[in-house]
Amino acid sequence: MLKQFFQFLLVLCGALALASAGRYDGYKVYEIKAKNLAGRKALRALASEVSDKYEFLTLGRNFNGSASVLVSPENEAALKAVLEKQQISHTLQNSNFGRTLQDEVLQHRMLHQSKPYAAGTGRLGTERYHTHSEINAYLDDLAARYPSRVYVKIVGKSYEGRLLKTITITNGDGRAGKNVIFIDGGFHANEWISPATVVFSIGELVENFEEHAELLNDYDWIVLPVVNPDGYEYTQLSSETRLWRKTRQPVTLSNGTVCYGTDPNRNFDFHWLEKGASSDPCSNFYAGPRPFSEPETVVVRDILHTLRGRGILYLSLHSYGSAFYYPWGWGPVLPDTWEDLHEVGVVGAEAIHAYNGTEYEVGSSTALYGEACGASDDYAFNDGFALTYTMELPFAGSSGFEPPASDIDRLVRETWAGIRAVGKRVTVKYPLGRKRGR
Ligand SMILES: [Zn+2]
Repeated sequence: MLKQFFQFLLVLCGALALASAGRYDGYKVYEIKAKNLAGRKALRALASEVSDKYEFLTLGRNFNGSASVLVSPENEAALKAVLEKQQISHTLQNSNFGRTLQDEVLQHRMLHQSKPYAAGTGRLGTERYHTHSEINAYLDDLAARYPSRVYVKIVGKSYEGRLLKTITITNGDGRAGKNVIFIDGGFHANEWISPATVVFSIGELVENFEEHAELLNDYDWIVLPVVNPDGYEYTQLSSETRLWRKTRQPVTLSNGTVCYGTDPNRNFDFHWLEKGASSDPCSNFYAGPRPFSEPETVVVRDILHTLRGRGILYLSLHSYGSAFYYPWGWGPVLPDTWEDLHEVGVVGAEAIHAYNGTEYEVGSSTALYGEACGASDDYAFNDGFALTYTMELPFAGSSGFEPPASDIDRLVRETWAGIRAVGKRVTVKYPLGRKRGR
């Protein structure tokens, strides 16, 4: 313990020796509150016109007047002037966001180094986040320990060559061709709580099997914990990279500039690049040079295709937003079966609320968030899944995207309560599956 403490001190001193906390050094987070309709309108206008100056951290479509905003030192005075003119109150929430990110990355590295995961030692814990190779090692370990119930398959490689693996979880009765619930996580690199929740869910279904046996009678669960491992590993390097969202495949512009990565959740070939996505390779919402330009989205697409006729529920875990989004995300229309989508989403939201009091919203992506074309949930729904959801976990940490390690346990358990309830409802609602014939 003492040795670990001194190791921690060394890491800490190394960090303090660095003059800057990266690109977010000196950035502040303000909590702002609009008192009236005029103030809310002013905030909306501000958010849409100045995204390069201020980053609004909680200003979705369901914006109720309060928000957090991240602002750079050089733009702080201008932001305050606008807020004061519009009589919008603001309180300082974080005086150096870069330092917070740096502390979090260092803490992650220290926790990882002090107790790396070793195969054969049981479940991956919830006391810290895990690396992609640790998660893959855990899947292999489960396959070795539960060979009659678990099957691990290499389904592809990321751009940088990391192995993408799925785990198929069964009840071991050997019955082939069951319906399938497919879950993925880690589309967006910075949303660490997503793979953490997926890994916890795998642990529940496999290692706590008796408690959840009813979920596996007529259904197999297939899980891909980290869709975008290159991005996920990149975010673990430093405070500079902690909030990276996209993949890591570079694109060279005509003027020779190189921009990295595509938003994998805008890269699917369904209403691709129509709305809520960017054609600018440097944008965080870049849809890619063409649909399925990313090896990682090809992997997800091919899994969805192999599940045609069997795939009933597709759940893609993201953060943040506290919501179950269902199709469509390409425009303000609803699928014919939207009432089924809504009903099952509400089952999940109510289970989370009953577990922990956390409030989730349920609605179409477009209604709750705004258009986001080329996302995986729309693609899967159009390809024949009866129910598809993008599940947005709650805002946590300073930016919403970086729950501290101490929040992991609470968040993964409450989210699992929702996933479990949705899974249970699906097994009852679609006992024999539902062939949509596409
Ligand atoms: Zn996301």
